[in-house]
Amino acid sequence: MTTKRVYTFGNGKAEGNAQMRELLGGKGANVAEMNLLGIPVPPGFTITTEVCNEYYKVGQDKIVAMLQDDVVAAVHHVEKLMNSEFGSVKNPLLVSVRSGARASMPGMMDTILNLGLNDAVAEGMVQKTGNPHFVYDSYRRFVQMYGDVVLGMKPVNKEDIDPFEAIIEQVKAVRGIALDKDLSVDELKDLVRRFKAAIKAQTGQDFPDDPMQQLWGAICAVFRSWMNERAILYRKMEGIPDEWGTAVSVMAMVFGNMGDTSATGVCFSRDAATGENIFNGEYLVNAQGEDVVAGIRTPQQITIEGSRRWARLQGIDEAERAAKYPSMEEAMPEIFKQLDGIQNRLEQHYHDMQDMEFTVQEGKLWFLQTRNGKRTGTAMVKIAMDLVREGLIDEKTALLRCEPQKLDELLHPIFDKDALKRAKVITQGLPASPGAACGQIVFHADDAEEWHNDGHKVIMVRIETSPEDLAGMSAAEGILTARGGMTSHAAVVARGMGKCCVSGAGAINVDYKKKTVEIEGVVYKEGDYLSLNGSTGQVYAGEIPTRAAELSGDFKALMDLCDKYTKLQVRTNADTPHDARIARAFGAKGIGLTRTEHMFFEDKKIIAMREMILAKDTAGREKALAKLLPYQKADFKGILEAMDGCPVNIRLLDPPLHEFVPHDLAGQQTMADEMGVDVKEIQKRVASLAENNPMLGHRGCRLGITFPEITAMQTRAILSAACELKKEGKNPQPEIMVPLIGILYEFKQQKEIIVKVAEEVFQEYGIRVDFEIGTMIEIPRAALTADRIATEAQYFSFGTNDLTQMTFGYSRDDIASFLPAYLEKKILKVDPFQVLDQKGVGKLIKYAIEKGREVRPELRTGICGEHGGEPSSVKFCASIGMNYASCSPFRVPIARLAAAQAAVEA
Ligand code: PEP
Ligand code: MG
Repeated sequence: MTTKRVYTFGNGKAEGNAQMRELLGGKGANVAEMNLLGIPVPPGFTITTEVCNEYYKVGQDKIVAMLQDDVVAAVHHVEKLMNSEFGSVKNPLLVSVRSGARASMPGMMDTILNLGLNDAVAEGMVQKTGNPHFVYDSYRRFVQMYGDVVLGMKPVNKEDIDPFEAIIEQVKAVRGIALDKDLSVDELKDLVRRFKAAIKAQTGQDFPDDPMQQLWGAICAVFRSWMNERAILYRKMEGIPDEWGTAVSVMAMVFGNMGDTSATGVCFSRDAATGENIFNGEYLVNAQGEDVVAGIRTPQQITIEGSRRWARLQGIDEAERAAKYPSMEEAMPEIFKQLDGIQNRLEQHYHDMQDMEFTVQEGKLWFLQTRNGKRTGTAMVKIAMDLVREGLIDEKTALLRCEPQKLDELLHPIFDKDALKRAKVITQGLPASPGAACGQIVFHADDAEEWHNDGHKVIMVRIETSPEDLAGMSAAEGILTARGGMTSHAAVVARGMGKCCVSGAGAINVDYKKKTVEIEGVVYKEGDYLSLNGSTGQVYAGEIPTRAAELSGDFKALMDLCDKYTKLQVRTNADTPHDARIARAFGAKGIGLTRTEHMFFEDKKIIAMREMILAKDTAGREKALAKLLPYQKADFKGILEAMDGCPVNIRLLDPPLHEFVPHDLAGQQTMADEMGVDVKEIQKRVASLAENNPMLGHRGCRLGITFPEITAMQTRAILSAACELKKEGKNPQPEIMVPLIGILYEFKQQKEIIVKVAEEVFQEYGIRVDFEIGTMIEIPRAALTADRIATEAQYFSFGTNDLTQMTFGYSRDDIASFLPAYLEKKILKVDPFQVLDQKGVGKLIKYAIEKGREVRPELRTGICGEHGGEPSSVKFCASIGMNYASCSPFRVPIARLAAAQAAVEA
């Protein structure tokens, strides 16, 4: 059987459908589906994503040969439906060539419009339409896009504007006109000539006249755009595999630039920033699609309501708005009604918020695309919960609709209300993507990256953004643009990233060369501070303090839904009462790991700690430990109290001791004075703690084995704190965890000390507290002998940081030196310290749980390495029957959602 590579659609029929997005890409699958739904879509055909992969295997010439017959036949299919002919002078057909991957990647790949034009065809079209302005406007756009995308005509330096725009600016300057639409026919013709000459001069290539040659050039360029820098970066950020490839959809052109009864636009069935159920969008009269997304002209709103809101934000009064910027609802009421009807239908059909592109050609509405819209984290949650309430989806679907990682945005800090009242608004733009951001001004994407890497928080200020700015947008705290509406590239991409963005702030004047932005007469330089409120569009001078977000409204409702379905509990890793309280507010059901070593670094504690480590014998150590005991007790009491009624798993001292001692002379002298010994003594002791491979050295339970008095002191501190709390009427639930066990007898000996000290403490307080003694499983040998260790340990907590380190044999501190090469050579798909390696490390965990439960069926198991807050790792843990995952406080909601999804998917 031969492989089908080309799928046609048009006139209510289609060879594909919405289910075929893997093969046809999102765009191809949805235009097919819209045809089947009877929605007006220009006819066309889609070349599959598989061909994209073939393209990378066999190259351009072979692909063209392979597709030749199918594409020619598909072009005939379009010609028949459009009653015109590709390349004909008398009755020409023009097409658009569009990219479209399985997952939407807005603006990352290339599109070419008006393809099929040359001098003769253009003249023929003038005869046919009687509209030379439209024809030559389309022609110059085509040469511009084709020159850029296919022939590689780009700006040479980052300060340069687009070379085609530069030519347009020159022509406009000579005539003294401001708008592209005021260019005369002769000037448009002149632009075409100049563009072609400039392409030849810069790239050495002749512009192809043959429409078929143009088409092949465009198809292959779209395949190539799958591997352009920004698409690669976007895939990396979104976790989209390179193997998916892009499809290419070729569609008959419909023209939004045929005069004042033509238009083009983008619309959303709900608000992509807030999630509100409000139809919204933007359009431009007498324009083509790229004018709206590129943010070059300021588009008008689709609905009256949206238009009034926009005018308010722009400081435009109602009379001016209605006269100059009427909504589509006012200017094209009939079309608006059709558009509104179809958007409604599409949302009902797909059961999700739709992001749609349309064109109106001389009073007829055409849909070019629909897809599930990109949205902010806030909108994601609101839309999912609203759809449940509206009965469009069920609770389980709502859980699966939400991306765990995107919840992170809801946890971002917001501006402190009081500070905001005192702050000065310097200008106002559109609230393109919500959130609070504050940072130093930079003007270029690479500067944003550089400053960010140097530890600065930056706000990227641009006239408009283009897909090339992706890396800079990702590095910035927020984005401010002078041009562009709510559907501009900056807005759509920022929302997808959950990044604060204010767009279309028309009153700002950006000078890239001087690196300044002038706002209301004040000049701000690179490095000056700005604050942005992406929810209101307000821009402030200087830095405004922020405060933590909270869990409420739909977010809380979603989290409650998680609890309804989840089997795996979520705890938190917390070392302070403050962190414990934050995590509890986010729904943590206890503490899965308290790293006690983090408590030793404050002023007096570190001196006592150092004294303990530097002591030359047990007596000296015990003296220092006695000083540490009250500090530790107070710390544990704080944490147990903050988590009252919930389990708190406290780990005994773990890291190598050299991490605590002073390595500078001044610090060593302080310790010498404190301990009444010569500084040389201290230096000798510090030197003796040096290890060649400290992560595999004297750490973990090995400390407790060699210095049992440490284990004793910590146990005393934990249980004394618990006894005191219990006497105060509280309900402390301590768990004591022994780290880095590899051999049953290590655990046994530590347990003996813990049990003995516990009895002493209970005697002393005259009260008992229930507690458990467990261990970390973070050495492969512990996992392999889990059935032995479980005879003594009441619970296992998988320390997947160390377990990954020891399973792979990659130092967790040194992986950065070779990880990039491993990722690039595809030896590793992801960093195994971030995403749990299910095949290797996961296998050990699964085995350990099974073996442990053979001897102790009620054995509780959890994960407390960094993976405990990473969605795919959490899902894996749930799938192998783990009881809980533990992660940092701000990842608790993310882990809760991932855990609930695991239960729903099971
Ligand atoms: C671990 O190893 O996964 C762990 C949680 O312990 P730490 O990171 O403190 O070594
Ligand atoms: Mg560890």
